Formats: sequence, structure tokens, C-alpha cells
Amino acid sequence: MTTELLPNFFAGRWQTGTGAGIPLFDPVLGTELVRVSNAGVDLAEGFAFAREQGGQALRAMTYAQRAAMLGKIVEVLQAHRDEYYAISTANSGTTTRDSGVDIDGGIYTLGYFAKQGAALGEAKCLLDGQRIRMAKDPAYQTQHIQVPTEGVALFINAFNFPSWGLWEKAAPALLAGAPVIVKPATATAWLTQRMVRDVVDAGVVPAGALSVICGSSAGLMDQLQPFDVVSFTGSAETGRIIRSHPAVSERSVRCNIEADSINSALLAPHATEGSEAFNLLVTEVVREMTQKSGQKCTAIRRIFVPRAVYDAAAAAIAAKLGKTSVGNPRNESVRMGALVSSEQKAAVLAGLAQLKTEADLLFDGNTTALVDAADTSACVAPVLLGHRQPEQALVLHSVEVFGPVATLMPYDSVDQVLAMIRRGEGSLVCSVYSEDPAFTAQVSLKLAAWHGRVHAISPDVAALHSGHGNVMPMSLHGGPGRAGGGEELGGLRALNFYHRRAAIQGSNQALDLLAAQGVALPL
Ligand code: NAP
Repeated sequence: MTTELLPNFFAGRWQTGTGAGIPLFDPVLGTELVRVSNAGVDLAEGFAFAREQGGQALRAMTYAQRAAMLGKIVEVLQAHRDEYYAISTANSGTTTRDSGVDIDGGIYTLGYFAKQGAALGEAKCLLDGQRIRMAKDPAYQTQHIQVPTEGVALFINAFNFPSWGLWEKAAPALLAGAPVIVKPATATAWLTQRMVRDVVDAGVVPAGALSVICGSSAGLMDQLQPFDVVSFTGSAETGRIIRSHPAVSERSVRCNIEADSINSALLAPHATEGSEAFNLLVTEVVREMTQKSGQKCTAIRRIFVPRAVYDAAAAAIAAKLGKTSVGNPRNESVRMGALVSSEQKAAVLAGLAQLKTEADLLFDGNTTALVDAADTSACVAPVLLGHRQPEQALVLHSVEVFGPVATLMPYDSVDQVLAMIRRGEGSLVCSVYSEDPAFTAQVSLKLAAWHGRVHAISPDVAALHSGHGNVMPMSLHGGPGRAGGGEELGGLRALNFYHRRAAIQGSNQALDLLAAQGVALPL
């Protein structure tokens, strides 16, 4: 039986691609769910429509009006949450809790920007810093301002966050006044398409402000013009293709890349077995390995502990992982669902085989039967690896296995462990577990040079902290080097990407009138 071919919302109307389309599957049951295609869709028309109609309508609004629009999107999405959970279970193979990270995480991020954006009021531009004198006579000064870019924001997204991945980018883009075209990863495009459909059908965004195009990415980058921006999330390999596209290299299209990452967790040198810091690390490692089956770009891949507690840490993590039931997320006893596709399962197993060429197997949940799922499903249980001489390892510091897999490594000195963490060549996040604030402060300064975020956990924040891998809208997301060099979120800093900065040099009289239309970002 042929399943529904999902239409694209492009050039202000629903357009169904031609041909059979690409099928999307249930990774647990193996059944076909829907199909996607953009074959035959006029890309140039859709980009022009978004750029002109959507852009003009959004820029005619103030920040407060656009923030109110985000609030309305939140209401629409809240009203359809149950359907989103059903799609997520079917298409991503996730448990209810893991679907929530994606769905409610996206809605929460929108709500955050709705609230923060309201505080920007009726302004039309952002005032960037103070006025600066440019002559002896103070009548002539310069004021830097930021205005919404006059182009579209193209999002090329990864498969692991079809909801959050859309809204964490769309919230600041729409607040800034940039129309959005999202191209979700094909494997899980259904949820993104459905959310856009609901928002568009509810009539809460102007024509051209939000478009979705599913299926092939061919030709999308070719459409980009000088004032457009592209925000990519996915593998380092595809990131390289995006970065070297003529739109970026010749037309200076602004480009943000969020790529893969070998994130670390670090237990402080003074931590003993069973200490609060030790227990906090163990809990967080297990959560990171199993949440969304380890399919988070921020997930912990390398775990560094003092050599004296290596065996104890291995035993404690393995004991907790052993309690993780894996299988069909529709069964309430299941704690961890599937990977998103059989292709991802094959990629994870191949990556695991590569890591095993260097590492020892400390725990393998795959020896236990799956719950309500066949061995042919895309389920993979958690695997903990270890290496007693990690300085000698190569692949452990360079290969990202995008699944429930992490490697435990002992260290002998702070300098040595920092050098090993640095071998990740730039990561999204490193978490530190310590009862000594002086140590935390000292290593955070070092780690900040190679990470977008340092998640520093001590007993006093044990019950408060937001989690190593959870990306919160008020904190920066992105990382240098291998992680792509991108920056997202970080509160209202996220607006910068969708604005153009200009210096206005002139008389105070003109600058006063300009300032009356602007607002300083309350960072
Ligand atoms: P991917 O294969 O690189 O695909 C990402 C997106 O790029 C998809 O929408 C894909 O479309 C599209 N694409 C593929 N080839 C393209 C091309 N030549 N030109 C333009 N677009 C192209 O990555 P993925 O497998 O979906 O995601 C997993 C990776 O993403 C992991 O490595 C993970 O670490 C990383 N990730 C990073 C972050 C972060 O914030 N740093 C967040 C999540 C995931 P199709 O699906 O149609 O091929």
C-alpha cells in the first residue's frame, strides 16, 4: 500500500512533489509511514516568495509584535501535542519522555523567545553599544545598529531533533524578522512538516514567513543570495559541503554550522568512589548515554575519571545501564527506544566496531533481549567501553558514534586530562563534576577555549542543574573547531545571526531620532 505523500508548504501554498517520493519508516516495526518529495517544486519561486512577501511582512512588525506571534505559535503547538507525540513514537522510535525532550523542548524555547522578545518593545532595530565621538566636537558621533537581514533564513536540519531543531532556530529568526525555510532531515521529516502545517493552517504567521520543503536537498543552496543566511545542523561531512558551496564562498551568505562533537565529562581529581561528585557523574553519564538512545549532538562520548576510581566508575555506570530496558517505546516498561532508522543502526554498529579496535568492552546491553521488538528493529542497547591508557588511543578521541555508546578513560594529572579533552578538536559541551569550586573555576577557564558550553556541577546545584546534554535557550549552543564553529541561542544573542550590523556616523540630532526607533539588547 502506498502511503500519503506529504505536501511541502512553499511559495505560500501546499505543493505535493511529483513521483513516488521517499518513504519514512517506523524504526521499531519497520512499517512505512508517509512519503516525502519536492520533485517538480519551483525552488526559485519559493525562495523569492519568502524573501519578498514573508520578509516585508515580518519587518513591518515590531519586536513586540513578532514576540506575540511566537506566543501564538506556542498556543497552536500546545493544542496539537498529542499528535506530535504519536508521530515521534512512530517515526523516531522514542519513548514518551524522550519525545518530550524534542517536542516540549521546542515549545519551551519558543516560549522563552516570546517572553524575552516582548521586552524589546515597539523597536525596529537594535542599538549596538554606546555612541562614540568621532571628532573634537561631540556633534559628530558613530552609533552601531543592527537591522533585520533582508533575506531568508534557510535551515538544513539533522534527523535527531525534528521539533526542537526547527524551533530553536525559528524562534530567534522570526523574532528578528527573517522568514524561515526549513528543510528537515528526510528520515524524521514528518514531525517538522506537521508542526509547520498546524502553524500555517492556524493563520498565526504572515504569508511567506514559514515554509517547509521535505525530501532532497538538491538545489537549495543554489537559491541563496547575498542577504540570506543558512543555518545547518548535521554531520561534519555535510557541513563541509555547505561551507564550500559558492553561495557561501562567493556570495558571502552568512553560514552557521552545528556539526558533530566528541563531548567529555570530567570527574575532579579529588573525587572518591561514592562521593557526591562521583555519583553525580555516574547518573549523568547514564542519562546521556540512554536519552534519545544517545542520538544527541551534545551527548557524553568520553568520560574522564581519576585512575584510582576507574574500576569503581565502570562498575557503577554498568550497574545502572543494566537496568535500562530497551525496545518498543509503546511498551510502558521500556526506558530506551530505537535509533531513528536501520541506516543509523548500521552506522552505530560500524562506529562501535571501530572504537572496539582500541577499547575494551566494559558493558554490553545487547546481550539482553529487546522488549516487544524484533532483532531486526533499529534498537541498539547501551555499550560502555574503556581504555586504561587513553593517551595512546586515536579513534576514541576522533570518532563520534551517534548512539548509546561512551568510553571511560582514567587520567593521572589535570594537565594530562585537559590535553586529552583538547584532542576532541573543539566540542559542544564538557561537564565537570567537582566538590571544589576552585578546581571548577580553574578548569572552566581552560575548557572554555575548546567548548561552546561548560556544564559545571557540584552538590549545591545537583537538584537544580539542567543536564549535560540539554540545550537551554538562555545558554550558548555551538562549539569551535570540529563542532562546526557555530553559535546558536545564548538568549537574545541569537538575534545577531539574523541581523546586519552597520555603523551610522552623523550628527547627534540624526542619531537621536535613530535611537528612538531602536532598543539595546538586554544581555
Ligand atoms: P547529515 O547526514 O549531515 O544531514 C543533515 C542535513 O543535511 C539533512 O537535512 C540532510 O538531508 C542534509 N543534507 C545531506 N546532504 C546534503 C547536501 N549535499 N547539501 C545540503 N544538505 C544536505 O546529518 P544527520 O545524519 O541528519 O545528523 C547526524 C549528525 O548531526 C551527527 O553527527 C550529530 O552530531 C550532528 N548534530 C549536530 C548538532 C549540533 O547542534 N551541533 C545537533 C544535532 C545533530 P537528508 O536527510 O535528506 O539527507
